[in-house]
Amino acid sequence: MKILVVGSGGREHALAWKLAQSERIQMVYVAPGNGGTARDPRLVNVNITDLHELATFVEQEHIGLTVVGPETPLAGGIVNLFRARGLKVFGPTKEAAQLESSKDFAKAFMQRHGIPTAKYQTFSDVAQAHAYIDANGAPIVIKADGLAAGKGVVVAMSLEEAHQAVDDMLADNRFGDAGARIVIEEFLAGEEASFIVMCDGKNILPLATSQDHKRLKDNDEGPNTGGMGAYSPAPIVTPAMHARVMREIINPTIAGMAKDGIVFTGFLYAGLMIDAQGNPRTLEFNCRMGDPETQPIMSRLKTDLVAVMEHAVNGTLDQVELEWDRRTAVGVVLAAAGYPDAPLKGAVIDGIPAETPESVTFHAGTADVGGQLQVTGGRVLCVVGLGDSIKIAQKQAYEVVDQISFDGMQCRRDIGWRGLKH
Ligand code: AMP
Repeated sequence: MKILVVGSGGREHALAWKLAQSERIQMVYVAPGNGGTARDPRLVNVNITDLHELATFVEQEHIGLTVVGPETPLAGGIVNLFRARGLKVFGPTKEAAQLESSKDFAKAFMQRHGIPTAKYQTFSDVAQAHAYIDANGAPIVIKADGLAAGKGVVVAMSLEEAHQAVDDMLADNRFGDAGARIVIEEFLAGEEASFIVMCDGKNILPLATSQDHKRLKDNDEGPNTGGMGAYSPAPIVTPAMHARVMREIINPTIAGMAKDGIVFTGFLYAGLMIDAQGNPRTLEFNCRMGDPETQPIMSRLKTDLVAVMEHAVNGTLDQVELEWDRRTAVGVVLAAAGYPDAPLKGAVIDGIPAETPESVTFHAGTADVGGQLQVTGGRVLCVVGLGDSIKIAQKQAYEVVDQISFDGMQCRRDIGWRGLKH
């Protein structure tokens, strides 16, 4: 069987790496892929990003299944387009992807279906937005309605910051159309967790839990990023918490979509905030896997992912039982100089060791330029270490991190710290 993975990040490298381990795989294509997928002899990069051209490529190469990594093609309707051409694809339709592509859609949906989330209001008028902030005080959270590559959220600790965020988004158009409407919501305190499930339209299959690290610097300081590291499993999601999240958030979301006339297929990712009393609330939905959560999660998955994907597109996920490596996986992101504001490209990357049973390095913003590996994006690599405890997994990951070098390399030294507290 041939499979296509759409995307170019660490998430897609990890998905393609896992799919390629299947004995039934003839070829895994990655479009457009990165330096890591280019170097892996089991993977083939395809330099196509136009969705119609991709569909044609899939027809010509007789690719049996397409898995879509990032949100942009999903919001652009890749699943609708592929299905209309009779091609098997795993992901949400454009309509279902609104859960991620419009914060206003997601908030109204959650309110309508009684899914726990922060109190909010949506604005397109600058004066009304300012008045709402004055009436509610800080801390308060301002979100661009549309897709903004993880950068459209401002957690404002002061009124000044909140007003500035409103001006940036609504008056100065900093996010273009994505910020033409904004959601202003209540600040929620607590500990975050990433809760990801697969849906085939009827059945729901939860993946292993994980926790991301959004801030650039150790101790969760510095600006928000796309994610500086993640580990799996997340001890805060106890079996009781898991059952509660399924009951109060995941099941009502899939059922609510169906009630609204939308069949949800694909990965559903609920970003949770769990407060000090242990109540989970939904910060956001993503309609895809997380990056970097995918890297540690795929490193722990023992089940053949090709078989899982086939069940997912055939509506038989109820027949799947996932098997996980009992070890913890800690994934440390290595980012370029200047990330997240203005990542510097072109640095030469050295020292990536070969994969071992205890560690694997996934690529993101890299390219193989004439045999030399170069930095091409903000998040460059994600090094995953596996071990019987978070501490051992950290040690495995950082031993590899310390062998890798490129000019201006940034990484956090504390990935997994919340897990160590539990
Ligand atoms: P989002 O893209 O909506 O998940 O927001 C990105 C990050 O902003 C989240 O991972 C949280 O760290 C933070 N955040 C979002 N909404 C809230 C909220 N209501 N209260 C506190 N922090 C939030």
